[in-house]
Amino acid sequence: MRATAATILADFWGLIFPRVCLGCQEPLARGEDHLCTSCRAQLPYTDYHLLPPADNPLARRFWGKLPVRHALSYLRFLRRGRVQHLLHQLKYQGQRDVGLALGRWYGHDLAAAGFTFDLIVPVPLHPRKLAKRGFNQSAPFAEGLAEALHMPWHAAALRRTAHTDSQTRKNRVQRWQNVAEVFEVADVIAIQGKHVLVVDDVLTTGATLEACAAALLAAGATEVSIATIACADR
Ligand SMILES: [Zn+2]
Repeated sequence: MRATAATILADFWGLIFPRVCLGCQEPLARGEDHLCTSCRAQLPYTDYHLLPPADNPLARRFWGKLPVRHALSYLRFLRRGRVQHLLHQLKYQGQRDVGLALGRWYGHDLAAAGFTFDLIVPVPLHPRKLAKRGFNQSAPFAEGLAEALHMPWHAAALRRTAHTDSQTRKNRVQRWQNVAEVFEVADVIAIQGKHVLVVDDVLTTGATLEACAAALLAAGATEVSIATIACADR
């Protein structure tokens, strides 16, 4: 392969600032993005999008609660694994590009499987948390999905109306009460008559996504689907 000025410059740049895999910290090869080929091959994909809806365990979790058209998650959340490390990078290290890359990869899979939506909406953060963290970790995932699926996304379609305490020290019931009624549709025109895909980084109880879906349906969305980067087993 003939080395171009750009690749020489990229290699030289890489010597000074080596790009490392966010999964295993090994240097990335040319053409690898955020994750090395080996880490990408070893990610715990759910492949829920390939299952008939009745066999999708994530979809089953919403049965009898809300009509959710598609319930999708790219990865399985395992503590102390690559997925937790990736999500930590996204959330606390400000690695916005990780969310974007994950959204693009998953969007390609969903597009190949024939999924379509009208609008993609990230679960919003409370403005106070947004100011503290600098960005909403669900937004780059929404953006990557939208890009790969050739669909619009809307960062401000939903808004959080009350500040919720940290979820980590609460039990299941308290978590449900904690997020109930805190989401409202900020842009009703944008979602009316639409099949909206609501996206978040991690699904644990599903209460947050359910509250968002309920708000969207109440405001006139015709259908709601959900997708997350990762979902935890119950
Ligand atoms: Zn790796």
